[in-house]
Amino acid sequence: PSLEDFLLSAIRTIPDYPKPGILFRDITTLLGNARAFRRAVDELVHPYAGLKIDKVAGVEARGFILGGAMAHQLSSGFVPIRKKGKLPHDIVRVAYSLEYGVDEMEMHRDAIRAGERVILVDDLIATGGTAEGAVKLLQQMGANIIAACFVIDLPDLGGRSKLEALGVEVNTLIS
Ligand code: 5GP
Repeated sequence: PSLEDFLLSAIRTIPDYPKPGILFRDITTLLGNARAFRRAVDELVHPYAGLKIDKVAGVEARGFILGGAMAHQLSSGFVPIRKKGKLPHDIVRVAYSLEYGVDEMEMHRDAIRAGERVILVDDLIATGGTAEGAVKLLQQMGANIIAACFVIDLPDLGGRSKLEALGVEVNTLIS
C-alpha cells in the first residue's frame, strides 16, 4: 500500500465523537502500532533531515508524543505548548479560536530564543485555529518557524491555507 494508505489503516475513526456528526480520527491506534508509529515519525522528520533544527514545539497533548520522538531523531530540544495554567515559570500566552469560542495556550518565555529554528507539530490540522495560535506564540518569541507538520490534514476545513497565509510551510502525511 502507499504510505498514506498504510498510515490511514493504522488510524481508527470514531463516529459521533466528541459530538454527534463529528468523525473523530483516533491516532492512539497508530501510536500503539510499532511499525506505523516509527514510519509516521520517520516521515514527519524526513523534510528536515540534515537541517539544523533547534527546537521541536509540540501542541498539547498528542503533539507531545510525536514531537518528543521527532526531537530525538533531529537531535533537537523539545518545547511544550500547553493549555492555560499548566506551566510553572514565566509564560507567554495567546488566545486562539476553537470551533465554538476561544481558549488560551501558553509557552515558557525562556523556552525559545529569538532566531532559533523551530518546527511545530500536532497530530491533526482541521480549521487551523489551534496551529495558528501556536504560530503566533512562536512568532512572539522571535522563533524562525521552519515548518508546521501534522500526521493528518482535513483539507476541507482550510487549516493548511490559514498557516500558509501566515508564511508558514506546512507538511502533512495524510489528507
Ligand atoms: P483545529 O484547531 O485545526 O480546528 O483543530 C485541531 C486541533 O484539534 C488539534 O490540536 C487536534 O489534536 C484536535 N483535533 C480536532 N479534530 C480531531 C480529530 O478528529 N482527531 C484528533 N486526533 N484530533 C483532533
